Amino acid sequence: MKIVNLGSGSKGNCTLVAGNNFCIMIDAGLPIKEIEEKLDSLNVSPTQIRGILITHEHSDHIKSVGKLSKKYHIPVYAHISEWPVLETKIADVPFNLRNGFENSFYIENMQISTFKLSHDANLCLGYTINIDGEKFSIATDLGYCPNSVVEKLKGSQVVLIEANHDENILSNNPHYPLILKKRILSNKGHLSNTQSANVILQLVGGTNQIILGHLSEENNTPELAYNTICSILSKNGIEEGKHIFIDIANQHKMSNIYEIKKKN
Ligand SMILES: [Zn+2]
Ligand SMILES: [Zn+2]
Repeated sequence: MKIVNLGSGSKGNCTLVAGNNFCIMIDAGLPIKEIEEKLDSLNVSPTQIRGILITHEHSDHIKSVGKLSKKYHIPVYAHISEWPVLETKIADVPFNLRNGFENSFYIENMQISTFKLSHDANLCLGYTINIDGEKFSIATDLGYCPNSVVEKLKGSQVVLIEANHDENILSNNPHYPLILKKRILSNKGHLSNTQSANVILQLVGGTNQIILGHLSEENNTPELAYNTICSILSKNGIEEGKHIFIDIANQHKMSNIYEIKKKN
């Protein structure tokens, strides 16, 4: 399995997961032109995408879902209780390409399971993609990370987890109204660097690679996220680059390509 994040942040999110000769996309919140260009640079044709999985209805996750689905006949997958909310927002998706799920399901040989995240959306989901024990999980847009979610992430060789903000920068940001600060800091908002570190600590051992995602451009920097998280790990005897690897997804640039190889 290969994973590449095409862009992550409050202006758009999109992650590609490739199996042997097909891909799936998790969210398509970047402009369609940018997605097309990035796929092209990866030598991936949009027609190789067998499904777009939706985490939730916020525009930074669904902006180009309708256009991509219609243009390249890509099936779209969302939880059945999410479709009534999505209907008007991604009206371009042809009816025969709309798939609703309730529990885990398969796209070709990829087993896809979901878990609920606490966020101010109708429903927000994290995903685990599993091909014969090669496991990737993604969890962004969550106000806090309960044990039940940590359990879902455990054992995934690669995990993309949110590190949205630094609590101090956010609290002191003069450009953010109080109500917005409260929303982001609430249980239905976004995960801070510190919260993210506490999740990562629990993944050490089963997870090799962490990708930090959905960083705020206003209330965080890649350096700050990395340093805050590494310092919390280090206080707990965990060394980045030795016990676990941490990369940071970027709003504008594609991530590295991560490959999960089958254990023999
Ligand atoms: Zn959201
Ligand atoms: Zn978001």
